Order: sequence, then C-alpha cells, then structure tokens
Amino acid sequence: MLYFDANATTPCAPEVQEAMRPYWSDAFANASSPHCAGRVAAQAVAAARRSVAECLDARPQEIIFTSGATESTNLVFWGLLLAPRTRRHVVVSAIEHKSVLESAALLEEQGFEVTRLPVTPDGVVDLDAAARAITPETALVSVQAANNEIGTIQPVLQISRLAHEVGAFFHVDAVQALGKMPVSMLDWECDFASFSAHKIYGPKGIGALFVKGGPLRWPWPRPLRGGGQEGGLRPGTLNVPGIVGFGAACDRLQQRPANVLENVATLRDLLEDSLGRKFNNSISVLGKNVDRLPNTSGLLIEGIDADMLFLRCKDVLFSDGSACKSGVIGLSHVVDSVLIEKKLKNKFLRFTLLENVTKHDIELLISSIEEVV
Ligand SMILES: *Cc1c(COP(=O)(O)O)cnc(C)c1O
Repeated sequence: MLYFDANATTPCAPEVQEAMRPYWSDAFANASSPHCAGRVAAQAVAAARRSVAECLDARPQEIIFTSGATESTNLVFWGLLLAPRTRRHVVVSAIEHKSVLESAALLEEQGFEVTRLPVTPDGVVDLDAAARAITPETALVSVQAANNEIGTIQPVLQISRLAHEVGAFFHVDAVQALGKMPVSMLDWECDFASFSAHKIYGPKGIGALFVKGGPLRWPWPRPLRGGGQEGGLRPGTLNVPGIVGFGAACDRLQQRPANVLENVATLRDLLEDSLGRKFNNSISVLGKNVDRLPNTSGLLIEGIDADMLFLRCKDVLFSDGSACKSGVIGLSHVVDSVLIEKKLKNKFLRFTLLENVTKHDIELLISSIEEVV
C-alpha cells in the first residue's frame, strides 16, 4: 500500500508508542489521585504539557488537553453560545474544517448571525472581505492556519488583528499547520487555537485547546462540568497515555532533521511535475501561486474523473475530495468554494505526503495512475 493521505491521519511514530507504553500498565494511576502513583502520572502529564506548549510558542498553563481538535473547537463555540450578554455575530472562512463550520452552524441555529468569508481562486481567505465582515458586532472570528484539502496557508495574523481591532476574539484551527510550518500562538496573536495529535504522528483521540492566559482567562461560562480537571474547562479523568503520546509527538517534531519539510516539498513538486509531463501539462494545481503546506497537492487532471481513479487505484491511498456530510458522500465544500467551474468539480484529487515519503514512492504512484488511465 502506498499512503498519500497524511492530512487525514498519520501513523503513530514508534518513539511515540514507546513513550506511551508504561502509562497503559505500570504507571496507570489517575493523574488526579493524591498518592504517589497518581503523582507519577501527573508529572508525566506536566512534562507533556511543557512539550506541547514549547511547540506552540505558548505557556504550559495555556494548554488544555481535549479529545482532539473537534472537541477543542466545539468548546470555544459552545462557550460563546452560553455567554448571556454578548455580541451575536461570528465570522468563519468558507473553507474551514467541518468542526468549525458545524460549530458555527450551531450558533446560527441559536440566533447568531454567521458570515462565511469567501476565498480567492487560489484558496486564500479574501482579506478585503474579512475587513468588511468583521464589525463591532462580531464576537468571534475563526480562520484556519492552513487548509487540509489544498494546503493553502491563510493570513492568520492579519485576520487576528482585524478581530482584535473591534474587540472580537480570534480562534485558529491550526491542526494542519503544526509540524508543517512555523506555529506561534504569540506571533499569531491568538486567543484560542485547536490542535490534534494524530496529524503529527501521535495517537488518535487526543488534542489540545490553547487558551490565551490559561483557564482563568476563559471569558465565557464553561460548557463541560465535572471534576474540574484542566482548569475546569475539560473535566474528566485525564487520558494519560494519550497526553504523553501527544507530548512525545511534539518532542519528535522538535528533534526532526532540519531538512524534513524541504525534502517533502521537493518530492511533492516532483509529483506535480511528473504528472504534468505524463499528462501533457493538462493538470492544474490548486493554490499553486500562493504559500502552501509542503506535503499537500490538491490537483485536477483534465479529462480524468477523480471517482474513476479513486476506485481503480487500489494499491494507492489518496483522497478524491469527497467528504462525508451527514452520512452522505458528497463533494468537499473546500473544492466547491475554490473551483467555480462546475465541470471541474468532480476531478479533484488530493495527495498528501507523509514525512518519510521517498522518490520511489512517487514513481510508483505515477506509474500506478498512468496504468489506470
Ligand atoms: C483533522 C482535522 C481536524 C479534526 O481533528 P480531530 O482531532 O480528528 O478532531 C480539524 N481541523 C482540521 C484542519 C483537520 O485537518
């Protein structure tokens, strides 16, 4: 199997699995227990919190462990929803992940006004539209750092400043950015940010919410209630193995060889160039003219239906831009927003490379596609 679906998930790295191992068995205690075994677990959680914070350019107390980015984002939107007297306008981009779009839809159902910012044909949020949309009525602006389908990098700092100028909060879905580009809560001037471990070679079911200033600075009622863990923002017994794994995945990012991303970008470019040559330059790459994640290639090949390729390339795993919407497979809203011409919409292919991808993998992918076509 050739795996070209790294933006959907990554394998849990061996060193991450190794770091987690003791916390399933010997060091199984509840991190909230006051006895010595509990303290061992609590210390492991504290160390992981430092590792994650360091990766995000944040302080450890600003990291709230959650079950993943979906939960992190939901916490932010639910918090706003519960605020009794607040502005009732929210701004998101049209190409956000479903976890953001559906959270915004929840607020809309509850009487909030939601503006969905359009993107340029290159898949970047339109800053002029953002400037017009963000008003003194706006409570929250949420724009992703990088897109999961086409890899385009968004002008996070500019949008964050537009939000702050009118006294709104700024949330960023930084899931795809972590490990693939510089991430800094300070430089981006974020109030909230969502992260996930399984997109950075960590385990599934664990993630984090960054809250500027920590739980004490949380501006709204707390949506989840229980034992008060994570500063009361995410109560429930801590997932110690998961948290340790997330920390180890962040340590791994810091310790990677410096040229990892460069190599991935080179092979991604090789993939696009090779496809271009094989198909007589009849391919178009979305986001080609703007800053993109080094591992992501969202493209169309003229005359080739994504479904056909998807069904017949059995030994190659990639994405055809379809997305599950209420249990029904349909076209991804990202592709829908970026591609205007209707006849192109069913041609979208997404190849997202793992860090350890090789030139040989790319050659096999190309010949596999060629054979099917
Ligand atoms: C995967 C992904 C998520 C969801 O993360 P989970 O931890 O699986 O909930 C959110 N946003 C983006 C951009 C993603 O790629």
